[in-house]
Amino acid sequence: MADQSNIQSAASKSIRPFRSSEEYLEAMKEDLAEWFNTLYELDVQPDTFLESLETGCALCQHANNVTRSAGDFQRRHPAAAARMRVPRREVVFQARNVAPGSFVARDNVSNFIQWCRQDLGIQDVLMFETNDLVLKKNEKNFVLCLLEVARRGAKFGMLAPMLIQMEEEIEEEMRDPTAPGAHREGQAPRNRALGSAGGGGQRLALCDLRNLDELVREILGCCTCPSQFPMVKVSEGKYKVGDSNALIFVRVLRSHVMVRVGGGWDTLEHYLDKHDPCRCASLCECPPHPKPPPLAPIWGFFPLSFLPGGPFSLGEGCAGH
Ligand SMILES: [Zn+2]
Repeated sequence: MADQSNIQSAASKSIRPFRSSEEYLEAMKEDLAEWFNTLYELDVQPDTFLESLETGCALCQHANNVTRSAGDFQRRHPAAAARMRVPRREVVFQARNVAPGSFVARDNVSNFIQWCRQDLGIQDVLMFETNDLVLKKNEKNFVLCLLEVARRGAKFGMLAPMLIQMEEEIEEEMRDPTAPGAHREGQAPRNRALGSAGGGGQRLALCDLRNLDELVREILGCCTCPSQFPMVKVSEGKYKVGDSNALIFVRVLRSHVMVRVGGGWDTLEHYLDKHDPCRCASLCECPPHPKPPPLAPIWGFFPLSFLPGGPFSLGEGCAGH
């Protein structure tokens, strides 16, 4: 993994390895896999993300660590905890010799789901069902649910995936736009101490913003409109887009350029597919006068099946990559 040639080949890959609306899911799986591996010294790969977790063992173990961290947090900060949903129940599960697809695996997964619903109170739109994971029927909801579990754990001081760290930075910047570079590279985010789920003081490295504007420009450069779709940098990672100058936050997550939309994330490319007239036109789903970001949460995206012609390919003729 640390092999130099692999690193170089990864670096030379296009910033846009996926040409579909599913890229944000790939980005999330990569992020969650790295986070899980850091927390538990596992070897979860994005490509086999569901397979790695389908016995439910790691999920239930994580649930119990969240509950423990929440208990610690509550003892240290009773006033803050009183305003939060604090999980209390231990998930009972079988941790060893669980065959994928077995009754026991289903039972583990179902217990995890119950804990998510009852102890964390995760809303239905972010929940998955046992078959979504065990039969790999719905990767999206499983990924969104796990991200929400990570989000909750972070509030109790557990290590957060990078996407969640970036969300916190952006929220901080939105609360106080004059805050000096909450998003600046290398700056230690606040509250990053780990709870009982991992070693103290550990955190995932934050993303590099140095090349962000370059990457944004490159993706924007695929626009073929008579006058280029406006996207103006306001400050690092913050842009005004479209005619109404809506503000969006952009971050680099490994090989993906991500945009914060509503309560979730999209990739910049997919975002532009929905807002840049020339890209919309090739999808036939654009209103005549494309509106700026509707700030729809990510779980509100149209699935691919909504689009005429199914999976699509965009900007093939585009210079750049
Ligand atoms: Zn355009």
